[in-house]
Amino acid sequence: MTTTEGEFVCQARGLFRKQGVTPIVGDFVEISVVDRAKAVGYLQKILPRRSELARPKVANIDQVVLVCATVAPPINLDVVDGFLIVCENQGIDAVLCINKIDLDKDKQYLQIAKSFEMAKYKVICVSAAENIGLDALREAMAGKTSILAGPSGVGKSSILNSLYPQYSLEVGELSEKIQRGKHTTRHTSLLEVSENTFVVDSPGFTSFSIAHIDKEHLQNCYREFIPYLEECYYIDCIHVSEHDCAVKERVGLNIDTDRYERYVRYVVGRNDE
Ligand code: GDP
Ligand code: ZN
Repeated sequence: MTTTEGEFVCQARGLFRKQGVTPIVGDFVEISVVDRAKAVGYLQKILPRRSELARPKVANIDQVVLVCATVAPPINLDVVDGFLIVCENQGIDAVLCINKIDLDKDKQYLQIAKSFEMAKYKVICVSAAENIGLDALREAMAGKTSILAGPSGVGKSSILNSLYPQYSLEVGELSEKIQRGKHTTRHTSLLEVSENTFVVDSPGFTSFSIAHIDKEHLQNCYREFIPYLEECYYIDCIHVSEHDCAVKERVGLNIDTDRYERYVRYVVGRNDE
């Protein structure tokens, strides 16, 4: 446990096990000091968690930095939406980071950035390899606890290495990772990269599932829909084929058409189940 007096090695009380509560990375805890000289303590209490992620298991994350790349691997916008939905559903803020812009000769990333800005996300375009845009990302992470998420091979480890060279993290070969899948069994931990700024040093989370989110609830996971949800004619409108739908009226104006269409495909896909 990290404290204002340095690192303490702590034992958990047996009580936690009985209650089925386990301290996880990111937890704020209260400890009692057993031996100050040896920096040994006893874990007394786990404070309430602001947020909790399942894989990797971490608590009290302020924001997810969702990393994607436009080329190598080609961007899959359904996947980007899916990650954002998971964050919204968990009440964790998300920032979108588009990496490898050095490879994007057609500058596709500009259009993609615009569409997610329209969806009310902060978007930061970077190249970990050529050190472009990293100051803006570092700034967006300052004073917060962040985790980098996104598909394998998009450059999460490379970004962390370029941002914080004092920590060296494993960077894999793209082809190797995609073909074989990568299972790092490394222990997850929080790095204090500067004062009050923490980063989960884990390569996850690389995948997500939104199967558990109700079809009716999905609309709440689209930030740009929220201002209009109360204005639809039907109280249970899901903004697909209903008339007098305030969300549909904004499509192409302040709701990005492509993102709306991906939403519809999700919801209609659910109907087929
Ligand atoms: P992760 O799986 O998301 O952690 O991705 P890695 O950081 O392991 O990177 C996957 C591959 O992409 C590696 O071969 C990196 O060298 C490469 N890569 C990462 N960032 C960039 C970048 O900005 N530009 C280019 N051209 N390659 C990059
Ligand atoms: Zn509607």
